[in-house]
Amino acid sequence: MHDNGKIVWLRAAGVALFDESGRAYYMAGSYADVTEEMERRQLMDHLAFYDGLTGLPNRFKLQELADAAIRRLEPGTSLLLVFIDLDNFKYINDSFGHKMGDDLLKAVAERLRTALRDDGAVLARLGGDEFVALINGGAPCDLAGFERRARRAFIAPFDVGGQQFYVGCSAGVACAPDDGRSFDELLMKADTAMYRSKGDRGGKFVRFMPEMNRVAVHRLRLHNRLRGAIERRAFFLHYQPQVDARSGALRGFEALLRWRDEELGLVSPMEFIPACEETGLIAPLGEGVLEEACAMARRLNMGARQPLKIGVNVSVVQLMQSGFADRALDIIDQSGAAPSMLELEITESVMMDAHNVGVSQLRDLAAAGLDIALDDFGAGYSSLNYLRRLPIRVLKLDKSFIDRLPEDIDDSRLIHSIVQIARDMGLEVVAEGVESAAQRRALSEFGCHWLQGYLIGRPMPPEAASLAVADWRGFTTLH
Ligand code: C2E
Ligand code: MG
Ligand code: MG
Repeated sequence: MHDNGKIVWLRAAGVALFDESGRAYYMAGSYADVTEEMERRQLMDHLAFYDGLTGLPNRFKLQELADAAIRRLEPGTSLLLVFIDLDNFKYINDSFGHKMGDDLLKAVAERLRTALRDDGAVLARLGGDEFVALINGGAPCDLAGFERRARRAFIAPFDVGGQQFYVGCSAGVACAPDDGRSFDELLMKADTAMYRSKGDRGGKFVRFMPEMNRVAVHRLRLHNRLRGAIERRAFFLHYQPQVDARSGALRGFEALLRWRDEELGLVSPMEFIPACEETGLIAPLGEGVLEEACAMARRLNMGARQPLKIGVNVSVVQLMQSGFADRALDIIDQSGAAPSMLELEITESVMMDAHNVGVSQLRDLAAAGLDIALDDFGAGYSSLNYLRRLPIRVLKLDKSFIDRLPEDIDDSRLIHSIVQIARDMGLEVVAEGVESAAQRRALSEFGCHWLQGYLIGRPMPPEAASLAVADWRGFTTLH
């Protein structure tokens, strides 16, 4: 220790001369202050094993810690590896720049660290928007506690550069020794489990299960088969009717994408849309959908007694691509359909800030006369406040809301008040997934404007939709 209280590193070197009996008769030595060199070496170690942005252990350090912890496992104890991946981080990074992205990652790291709480647990950053927590199974900081706190940590928006972002996360869990005895194996399995949790918003932790390997293989196959699917003309649209909740008069149709693959058969859009978003295929695919839907809107409206709307789903990935609005308006223009015949359905997956490129494109589209609908309301964050910032005209209530109608009193009350608030805000409300006459009656009483669901009609091929328009009768003859 130096007089100034600082610890210094000294390198001692010395020589001794001995007489015949082995006694030292001459000794000389020196001490050199090597503090600087040691600090440099520590810094190098730090750079090699810790992430520069967040200060968390990096992949190498994590591997070392995990493998050591696995070796130390005693019978009856376990080690949990939680793989956490942010949802939609890429779009924030792409549209707001890397500085904002970096600041957001730092803030996320801080919240996760607080949520982990336990000193014995490790939080590391693998890279990008991927974090890993190592937790001793059965220790005071159990998985359930961490999950609860981590999920809570993502509820409030992140303040970055004066803007607010709502960020979700997905997490998968693998456990040693059950799922594997090496870091690599655990990581791979936790990653597979994490993929399963993607999509069901809300950041629930998903435990790895052996059958998920099959799912991972399936996903790979899906990605392979998607390549070239547009050229093979394997995609097509079905149309599901929407009607007036009181009279049953036809409002229009929602265009729903279908994919029939020679090997995989009919694949659900819930499966292939996320895959198309990951691979970038969604951009050309989405443009094809819009083209087709515009042609249909024009055809249907030619023979219709009243104007009909066609709803088109737009992925947030499309919306975040600059130039999307211009291309969409070009497509509509060339098709000869009027913008007012189209309704774009968007989801609230990324809570969009007022300055976001997605929001400004929505404004341009709304200004050109298209209707914007917020899809799946009630399935995600569902902030009515957020609606004020977007040029939304239509609210689509998610099927999960409607399912428990009218028996569930709480859901009924909730839907009733949402419809009232939406009406006060000047919005139109579409209820999705209406399957029973009792649901139809309740929704119509609550003041819901439009209904869509199997009760009214299933998604159908374009020819069937055209025929349905010609002799649509409304509720009196329907039920
Ligand atoms: P969504 O936009 O919320 O579409 C409604 C989904 O609910 C459709 O499933 C529809 O078939 C289903 N549905 C409608 N009524 C009922 C009902 O009464 N009971 C039940 N059980 N289900 C009902 P689908 O066609 O499988 O589409 C799933 C999701 O895939 C859509 O949800 C939408 O988010 C996405 N999607 C579909 N087509 C496209 C597209 O062209 N582009 C994009 N980006 N996404 C699409
Ligand atoms: Mg939709
Ligand atoms: Mg929906």
